[in-house]
This record gives sequence, C-alpha cells and structure tokens, in this order.
Amino acid sequence: MKTDQGTILKELILIATVLLLAVSGCTRFEAYANDADPFLFYSVRLKDHSLNVVEVKGRIFGSGSHRVGLRPLSSCDGGMLEPIGFGAIGPDGDSLPVKWIDDIYVVETKGSDFTYSYDVVLTVEDRYSPEIRSMLTFLDRDRCRLLGKDIFLLPELSLAEGIIIDFDLFPEGELQTPWSTNGTRTLLPSLDDLPLMMTVSGDYRLIEEQIGGIAVRLAIAGEWSFSDREFFNVIKRIVSEEIALFGSAPHDQYLFVCDRNPIKGGNKFEYYGAHFTAGMILLLDPHIDRSDLFGSKMAIVAHEFFHSWNGGAIRSDGEDMLWFIEGVTVYFSYQVLLDAKIITRTQYGRRYESVRKRYFDNPYLGTVTIGSSGNSDLADKDMVNLLYDGGFLAAEALDNELREITSGRVGLIDVLRLLYETGSTLDEPTLVEAIEELCHRDLSAFISTMIHTPSPEILVEPPPVS
Ligand SMILES: [Zn+2]
Repeated sequence: MKTDQGTILKELILIATVLLLAVSGCTRFEAYANDADPFLFYSVRLKDHSLNVVEVKGRIFGSGSHRVGLRPLSSCDGGMLEPIGFGAIGPDGDSLPVKWIDDIYVVETKGSDFTYSYDVVLTVEDRYSPEIRSMLTFLDRDRCRLLGKDIFLLPELSLAEGIIIDFDLFPEGELQTPWSTNGTRTLLPSLDDLPLMMTVSGDYRLIEEQIGGIAVRLAIAGEWSFSDREFFNVIKRIVSEEIALFGSAPHDQYLFVCDRNPIKGGNKFEYYGAHFTAGMILLLDPHIDRSDLFGSKMAIVAHEFFHSWNGGAIRSDGEDMLWFIEGVTVYFSYQVLLDAKIITRTQYGRRYESVRKRYFDNPYLGTVTIGSSGNSDLADKDMVNLLYDGGFLAAEALDNELREITSGRVGLIDVLRLLYETGSTLDEPTLVEAIEELCHRDLSAFISTMIHTPSPEILVEPPPVS
C-alpha cells in the first residue's frame, strides 16, 4: 500500500491541532508550529517474508534541531536491535549525512523535517539463549508478534504526545495492540511506551469482553486441547479477582497474546510468560491438557496480569527489588488461582510443597541470597528458580509476619495496594516505610535478613499450620 506524504502531513497537523485543543481548550495552529514538541510517525512493512525482513520508516516533524540522535534499544541481557541499511532523507528527498556516535545514529538534519528508514531481520538465532526474554518478536508463515524495542529506533528528542504507527504486515486478521488501534494504525500515548509496545498481526483468533470496567482481549493462535472460550473464561476469573484485590486497574484495556512455546526439550522451561505495560504474552506448552485449565499452570495468567501492578504501576529502578517484583507476584498468583476457584486447596498445598522442596534442593541456596538471584539468564534454571521460589517463600513469610504483628489486620496485599496508590518508586526503604505506615512497626531487619543472607533462618522454619 502506497502512502501519500501530503495526506500524512495533513493528518499529523490535524492530530497535533486536536491534541493542542484538548490541552488548552482553544489555540491557534501557529502555537503548534512554533512551540510544540516534535511529532513522530512510524510505519512498519513486511518487506521480504521468506527472509524475515521488515522495513521500518520513521518521520520526524517539527524538531527544528540540527542533529537528531536515534538510539537502538538494548538491554544488558542482549537482544540489541541491529538496523540494516540505515539512511535518512530531507524534505526534498536529498540524502542527509548520518554519523554513528556511541551506538547512536546521529542525523544532520539542517533543522528540517526528515525521514529515516532501515530493515530489520526478525530472526532469533538461538532460542535457547538468554535473549528469549527480550526477543519475543517472532515471525511465522501466517502471523507475527512484534515488540517495539526489537524494531524501533528511539529518537533522542522530547516528543509530542501520541505516536502514530502504521503496520503493513498480514492482510488477513486484524492488527492487535494493547493501545487504541484502528485498522492498520495504532496510536501510542508516548515515547515511553514505544520499547514495550506489543503488536500481533495475522492468524490470531480474537475474544474481547469488558471485565470490571476494563476491556480485556485475547488473541490466540494455534490448535489447543481446549477451546478459546474455555481459556478466556479462566482469564476472566483471574482478571476479576486481581482487579478486586487492588480496587482498580492501571490501564483501561489489556491484551493477552497466547501462542505456542517455541523452546523445547532438556533443561528448558515448558512455558514462558512476559508482561509489557498493558500487553501480555503467554507462550504455553503445546502439549498442555484441557484439564490444566484448572491447575497451577494457569498461574502464568495470574502472574503476568499481576505484574500490571507489581512491576508495572509499582516500579523499581534496577535489579535490587527483583525478589519482590517476582516473588510477591508468584505468591499472589497462586493465591488468586485459589480464590478464583481455579485450583483447590489441595492443589495449592501440593504446589506450595513443590516450591519449598525445589528451594531447599537449590544448589545456590548456601551461597547466593534471594536478593542477588536473578532471572536475566534464563539458561541458568537454578538461578531463576532461586529467585522465584525464594521470592515466593519470602513473600509468604512477610505476609505471615504482617498478619501476626497486626493480629490479622494488615496483610501483604494491603502493602501492595498502598504502594500502588502512592505511586512511589519501589526500593527497600520505600517498602519498609509503607509497612511502617500500615503496621507502625519497623520490619527493615526482618526483610534485610531474609533477602540478604544465603539460606536465611526464617525460611528454614516449618510453615505455620493454618
Ligand atoms: Zn514475573
């Protein structure tokens, strides 16, 4: 599909004007032309399906800056975007000089609007590598999943709100993103949302319903032993339960994408989940049985959706609070399954015992603390298990302690709700403060010992009999 530059400009002007009107109530267009932040427009086209190549085009309007940096998004665990054939052109179609400085493409724009383009190969070379977490982008014969940071360069500019992205991928099947989407076009609220923007296109089946005042969609691909509706009903129960725990959800629409786990065999995990702002990817074991819809495997749904609050709305800088983000989420994911009557108390008990056993059998137990265990290297299953299992037990111990010191008045969920409502960045002192506010007790030593000592005493004691 060819796009007409004139039409795009008109649309951009219209949108920019509408945004300004919305902000100021009344304005003249000149105000935008002189003062407003620059505007970004992206388009993504499937260029060569057999070679897994997409073409990405960005257009920046109204920057006025003579040099604009475009940064590939990367993470310390690999998976950095490698654009092919990067080039930039000015408004007259003339090539603009580009320099490669400190891993950033710097375009000499002469202060004018400009267009840049590059190709990206959507192939994850080694699905067994730790990059699996950051490279969930995937292209198949009939469908694709794209994650913003795997395809987009990030302009080093302060941009106007609202980024338009046009996708020309699979003509069959609607484009799905967690954001406002109309046909092949999606509107992202801001540049911050670009790295974790998830898009699926092609042969996905769709179910959508309003749950607790928010729109929840499931885009599912492949054949399963259960029907799409049966799976969606499980999602529905979990979503309702979790919204009820917090009283509200951070976003007004959510997208679950369910696909087959491409990683198989040996020491690998049977299924993976990932959470991206208001989007969640559930890569399930292709051999999952229909009866598993009422089993602890559904913790993947509860876990990823719980990250909408813990890890999403409740954010932490760096890796220090990973034990809390992951451990507390694991802990509540099973509680939610129990409360939503997806698992029975017996199933919960069995799950709890297996987590406990795996924790005490972990080879890192005596040398690595829960606070320093990590999940960046998914190839190291024992390290990942120490984080999740240890985090689970630490969350449980903290929940029990809170209930004990307040005679059942305050639980860990109350602490989470307070953190969610106050919106402060999560670190150990913030957690201690939130507890102090609710319980009038200082649990800093309790938390510190549990998290920063290998094989902490507190987790060795037998669980309280309930
Ligand atoms: Zn998680």
